[in-house]
Amino acid sequence: MGFHFAIPILALSSAVAASQDAFQSKCVQFGNQINLPHVSVNFAEYVPGGTNLSLSDNAPSCNAQNGAYQNVTADLCRITMAVETSNNSQITLEAWFPRECNGRFLSTGMVVFQAVSVPYHIANCWSGANSSTGIQYYDLDYASQFGFATVGANNGHNGTSGKPFYHHPEVLKDFAYRSLHTGVVVGKELTKQFYDEGFNKSYYLGCSTGGRQGGNRSSDTRATSMASWQAPLPLTSAILFRGVPGSIRSSALRQCDTLDGAKDGIIEDPDLCRPILQTLICAADAKQTSSCLSSAQVHAAEQVFSPLYGTNGDLLDPRMQPGSEILASWIMYNGEPFPFSLDWFRYVVYDDPSWSGNFTVKDAAAALPRTHTTSRLGRGDIRPFQKTGGKILHYHGMQDELTSSEDSKLCYSHVAEAMGQSPSELDDFYRFFPISGMSHCANGDGASAIGQGTQTYASSDPESNVLMAMVKWVEEGVAPETVRGAKLSAGPGSQAEYWRKHCRWPRRNFFKGPGNYTDESAWQCI
Ligand code: CA
Repeated sequence: MGFHFAIPILALSSAVAASQDAFQSKCVQFGNQINLPHVSVNFAEYVPGGTNLSLSDNAPSCNAQNGAYQNVTADLCRITMAVETSNNSQITLEAWFPRECNGRFLSTGMVVFQAVSVPYHIANCWSGANSSTGIQYYDLDYASQFGFATVGANNGHNGTSGKPFYHHPEVLKDFAYRSLHTGVVVGKELTKQFYDEGFNKSYYLGCSTGGRQGGNRSSDTRATSMASWQAPLPLTSAILFRGVPGSIRSSALRQCDTLDGAKDGIIEDPDLCRPILQTLICAADAKQTSSCLSSAQVHAAEQVFSPLYGTNGDLLDPRMQPGSEILASWIMYNGEPFPFSLDWFRYVVYDDPSWSGNFTVKDAAAALPRTHTTSRLGRGDIRPFQKTGGKILHYHGMQDELTSSEDSKLCYSHVAEAMGQSPSELDDFYRFFPISGMSHCANGDGASAIGQGTQTYASSDPESNVLMAMVKWVEEGVAPETVRGAKLSAGPGSQAEYWRKHCRWPRRNFFKGPGNYTDESAWQCI
């Protein structure tokens, strides 16, 4: 990684110093004074709100996704550091301390917003097995504009290749847990030193790998993703998932869309959706056409919609939920290895860069002992967290094309069972909201703008913004009953076409009418 040396020198020049206000001076001085074990400050710079920050240090593979610039909304002090995590590993850490601080600390996870228009194979800065890829600048900007003293780390390596893990267990440890933890410990200390009033509350915001870091699991999911792409391999085309007449997509929607009472192209509760696909098979005497499928194709689709069991019969991963076919057809059902899963098996599980990717369920078994550090289902009894007053707002898009939302339901059940608590008891501190019409962390066909970041921002009202909902829950004791999302008419920043309140698990959304499905009051959590 390269470091900027020019910037602090410029900032310290007398001409600039003359026009500095107290906050600017404090920022630069603070950078020079930081004295924490294992922390090497690269530079500290004052960044005025409205700056389009150049990210020339970003790994090229990350710039493909993030762009080489990040807009900075709030006036802030940006501190960049390297933190040693062992004798031969380190993380890159940034702290963004806003001028107007609200007394709250926030750590970002590896959130990734996946623009639908970006082909996945070049979209690198999101969470796969190995993509840690650098700091989530858009989240640093998002949280700091709300006044949070915000930190973000690179998870111990830059770029999206799995090669840094190869024969390097310390880098793997950073990715698994140590980068996040280290960033929080260092970030909290710096926040206390930077602001006279320190901070009162600590928050965490993450999705994708950030969801794994927040407590969900990942290794089995990788196994499934391998199986998911493997299953349709006999198919010559993934187009059968893409909504054409006679396709898997059309059939699933036809059978399941109105189970929630509204024909709106969105399946509110995929649990109720068990599409029967056999009827799509061409008649024995018919030539296969665009309006019917071969039995091999239908069988492949049925595998995708079925749970994955291990060699000993244990459930490895739930099925892919129906409803995400179109996006998944481009990345998971395209007959090619999911790139991050492939790297994970090559560089972590098998230490074999030439491993073929011919995945079977035996590989899932092989993966488990090697991936325990990146958490299978973690400790389910999280009473210690609860006792400190901790709250969890957990969400998962029900059109997630990468990780089945049923995985989050398993995670929730795991906690419920381990703690011996019913959902109404868990509601005290842990609430799970499946979000209909949301693909992987953002976007999707439905009311998915719930305010987890810039791309999903539609309102700062706690009712319609999950970050603000957490603040209200933690600081005022008012828990979110629903999570309200906007269907944005033309992507991030555009007008809301309609709103919908998403129910907390295990309730589900039902259209009771009267009126149109775009009328949020016509829906009810049941
Ligand atoms: Ca529907």
